[in-house]
Amino acid sequence: MTEPMVRAEGVCKSYGRLEVLRGIDLEVAHGEVMCVIGPSGSGKSTFLRCINHLEKVDAGRLYVDGDLVGYRQRGDRLHELREDEVAHKRRSIGMVFQRFNLFPHMTALENITEAPVGVLGRPKASARAHALDLLDQVGLGDKAAAYPNQLSGGQQQRVAIARALAMEPKLMLFDEPTSALDPELVGDVLEVMRKLAEQGMTMVVVTHEMGFAREVGDSLVFMDEGVVVEHGNPRDVLGNPQEERTQAFLSKVL
Ligand code: ADP
Ligand code: MG
Repeated sequence: MTEPMVRAEGVCKSYGRLEVLRGIDLEVAHGEVMCVIGPSGSGKSTFLRCINHLEKVDAGRLYVDGDLVGYRQRGDRLHELREDEVAHKRRSIGMVFQRFNLFPHMTALENITEAPVGVLGRPKASARAHALDLLDQVGLGDKAAAYPNQLSGGQQQRVAIARALAMEPKLMLFDEPTSALDPELVGDVLEVMRKLAEQGMTMVVVTHEMGFAREVGDSLVFMDEGVVVEHGNPRDVLGNPQEERTQAFLSKVL
């Protein structure tokens, strides 16, 4: 049996007395696109942040590609990872946020080449060539020299996706990537994500785009109050939700 890309076993996370994740059990297979929906405050972003080493899990275990997040195992002892080891692990995970957080003083091309050159030590010329190819892939081949403020929100978000891909991640996390966009700009971003899914990228996508979840998602998770309420085939979950809480949520958003 091959290890899933993500395996969560009883993952719990609190902020002070607020229990945000209360025992998440989930698996994401290699090449799977998992969409996550749920009301605001249900812990969706926190779960992504745990996968990406941005938050520490309080209880339970979380594995990415077979590695326990946050720890190194020696014999039967666990050692917390040092900061540089965490940084190293994070390189293989791409994350795209709701707000396009491009570097404002860099062109689209520079935004994309910054980490491959600065962090991975790639030669500038090959990083540039790769970046131009990625810009092409996200439909922005003509925007290499543009600064973020010269791009629409949707274009900035596509640069952000290209920037994440430049690190050649094995897993891409999307946290409501289209929620801050004007409606007419959403489609282009979703199209880029759909192509990425078709290329076999493993993706966890927190989204309110039910059409995307239905058509692109291999699985759909409905989270509420820090637990997975329902998890299954997107068509089943959306078309025939079993749980009352899922039904109530979907009746508001569909
Ligand atoms: P979602 O993404 O589903 O809207 P979040 O994971 O962002 O939910 O947040 C879940 C809960 O955790 C919310 O009540 C939020 O206010 C709280 N929370 C998130 N991050 C922090 C933090 N760094 N410190 C304290 N509370 C937080
Ligand atoms: Mg969120």
